[in-house]
Amino acid sequence: MSLILKPRKFPRNLRLFEAVVRRLPADHSFRIKAEKRHGQLLSGHFGEVSTEYIFQSPLFEGSSVFHNLRLEYYKDRFLEIDTLLVFPQLIVIFEIKYLAGKSVLFRGNPPQMIRTHMNTEIAEDIYEDPILQAKQQVKNLQHWLQINNLPKIPIEPFAVMSNIKANIIIDSSYKEPHRILRKTMVESTVETFFTEAGFQTGMQPPIRELTSKLLSSHREDRRKAIDRFPVKYTEFLKGVHCPKCFRMPMNRAHGMWHCTFPECSYRCKDALYHTLLDYYLLASDTITNQSLRNFCRIDSPYTAYRQIKNLKLPMKGNRKSSVYCLKALFEPLLGE
Ligand SMILES: [Zn+2]
Repeated sequence: MSLILKPRKFPRNLRLFEAVVRRLPADHSFRIKAEKRHGQLLSGHFGEVSTEYIFQSPLFEGSSVFHNLRLEYYKDRFLEIDTLLVFPQLIVIFEIKYLAGKSVLFRGNPPQMIRTHMNTEIAEDIYEDPILQAKQQVKNLQHWLQINNLPKIPIEPFAVMSNIKANIIIDSSYKEPHRILRKTMVESTVETFFTEAGFQTGMQPPIRELTSKLLSSHREDRRKAIDRFPVKYTEFLKGVHCPKCFRMPMNRAHGMWHCTFPECSYRCKDALYHTLLDYYLLASDTITNQSLRNFCRIDSPYTAYRQIKNLKLPMKGNRKSSVYCLKALFEPLLGE
């Protein structure tokens, strides 16, 4: 069996976009873009999760698997790989796509991926050719291997179309149709590459230097929404949101948070945790009593103080000018 060195987890980026969409007013100029990106990330994650079992195949014995790897290959330039399969003689990059719809067409001139929707023949979405994207990743990864003094290993790019219901059509103008795979084709395609190249799968000498370097070089994008997007802190909707229906605000009474929407009426004690996660992803690693009151719409400094104290956050400064660090609170969830 392959060794999953970097398992897939719920993407931080998806949590970030959830928070952005939740907290931008409906008429904000970035809102539609954020919603679209959120939808893409969600279906992308769904598609990636649905391919995970493939990489546990006995055929990949001796390989190491990295899901959602992000490496810096030049200063402040990053390559992002959905799934990377590392054998001693070969590295395979899988660009995983999940496109809901009736059909996906690949064209060669110019290279494009075109999705047709389920209910209409006319509406189409046009995307970049995933093999072109994966080939760019090959170049970037080759550069990364070189600057890290690691052995030059052949790298093969593939795109995995994870929606089994979509009809995949490859136009005759498309140059490398063998690189577009359905999920069921992944194992046999890798096997064919091995056979043709005279490699053998199965027990292989480990390539610890490369795999440990890949693992230690992963860089999560930890930038805050206000540093990444055209959004200002002051523009975000404030208040504690309901962890069940995700709407705002919740009110606090008798030591509990209450959803103000009658059809939900959810009550809980830990709503602040979820709201502070939004603040952490959107705005800052640290929070003060005043910023907590502002973001969570809590009037009383004393209530805010009590709430923060319950969370047992590491702090700096004295009680009047305390700055609380949120990182430790969210490390377990975000895996940082
Ligand atoms: Zn609710």
